[in-house]
Amino acid sequence: MPAPDAPAPPPGPGDAAFDAERFRREGRRVVDWIADYLSTLAARPVQSQVAPGWVRSQLAAHPPENPEPLDAVLADLDRVIVPGLTHWQHPGFFAFFPAGSGGPSILGELLAAGLGVQGMLWITSPACTELETLALDWLRELLGLPERFASTGPGGGVIQDSASSGLLTAVVAARERVLAEAPARTTDIGRLVAYASAAAHSSVEKGVGIAGLGRAALRKIAVDARGAMDVAALAAAMAEDVRAGRIPCFVAATVGTTAAGVIDPVPAIAAEARRHGAWLHVDAAWAGAAAVCPELRGPIVAGAEAADSWGFNPHKWLPVNLDCHALWLADRRPLIHGLSMKPDYLRNAATESGAVIDYADWQVPLGRRFRALKLWMTLRMLGTEALRDRIRGHVAWAAWFAERVRSDSRFALLAPPSLSLVCFGLETGDEATAALLEQVNRRGRVCLSSATVGGRLALRLAVGGTLTRREDVEAAWAEVTAAANAATHDG
Ligand code: PLP
Repeated sequence: MPAPDAPAPPPGPGDAAFDAERFRREGRRVVDWIADYLSTLAARPVQSQVAPGWVRSQLAAHPPENPEPLDAVLADLDRVIVPGLTHWQHPGFFAFFPAGSGGPSILGELLAAGLGVQGMLWITSPACTELETLALDWLRELLGLPERFASTGPGGGVIQDSASSGLLTAVVAARERVLAEAPARTTDIGRLVAYASAAAHSSVEKGVGIAGLGRAALRKIAVDARGAMDVAALAAAMAEDVRAGRIPCFVAATVGTTAAGVIDPVPAIAAEARRHGAWLHVDAAWAGAAAVCPELRGPIVAGAEAADSWGFNPHKWLPVNLDCHALWLADRRPLIHGLSMKPDYLRNAATESGAVIDYADWQVPLGRRFRALKLWMTLRMLGTEALRDRIRGHVAWAAWFAERVRSDSRFALLAPPSLSLVCFGLETGDEATAALLEQVNRRGRVCLSSATVGGRLALRLAVGGTLTRREDVEAAWAEVTAAANAATHDG
């Protein structure tokens, strides 16, 4: 029985004015705004031209006391935010690695926000968990990764926010497994050591540090003339550590280095890791996407059947928005052992039954977004053949660009082209190459980045944008040669 004189609850908060009708009306306008932005992007300079502090100086310094209409917000987007962007979806964006995006994925993000679920445990939204498991099983099949990563066995896939997080969780799993297998040393984390090539991404050192091994525990193994890990040097470093009483715990192999897209000899690295009982993680952050094409797959998945974990970013070269890193494990138990926390308020019968996955146990944060929607929608609404066509196009256009570089005596390829990545420079040296980069990017039609490759400064052209067409790669070559011609005249 309710208390007879219970007071009525206070009136609702002010955002009740944002009701379903207003959401529908303004939501349509926002979708239109996005469509206009994407379809007119090519006319904008790729890189933002604003000076430091300009964006902030243009916006209100304090939060508004009273509501402002969508028009006011969109006006600021047009006037301040867009000019303050470097347009990663611009068809002339070739810098770093691409940041995948695409219609189905953007809609998936919208739906995820609209549903607003928090999928930390199976029980907190069964569909959020089960769709993720399914999407990662689909993706494993699409990439031709081994059966041992399927969710039907002791392993399975999970979506992390980034390759850095994927690697960190793999180091945690490695640490748990090694310590569990060596009970006498369970508290001796200070003896654990990790290995990656000197060309591996900086996230390896970061992850090894955060996981408690300490950054100094990472051995940066020399690379060969190609820029791939020197396996003899790895073997020697591991043997030396064992002699000194240290415990090889974790090896990261890179499939597609950040600078030049070089692929480490994963099968040989796997043999060394196995010899010492160390965990093998494969970081294929960018290049992994190319495995959707059977003819490109071989070197990308080579050695995967001996890896303990394997990860890549659909949010780089597949048309799936940040954030979406796909990580597969051959055995999920050490990961869960390292990361599961079940305070009383999270306990539930489904978890206790052991029949469900609680993805909070596979990652650092507790809460998790419904990221699987955008991946699943991309696969469904584009279809796998379209994904292959895109990758094939990008690789062919990069080969065309590399051929132009070869045929112009002013330029040199500074590494063999890798998939859709071309590293090149001016024969006259690093200073001239740096000046060329500055010129090309200032012209605004295309944007390139740079990296040190084989001790030289290289310009990097990474083809992979969702909106990039063959003409944009042709334009990139025209821009590079125009800037080089101008430099010759000035010189
Ligand atoms: N690994 C490699 C080979 C990369 O190239 C990158 C970034 O480009 C990363 C890891 C880090 O990726 P994320 O930003 O997803 O952490």
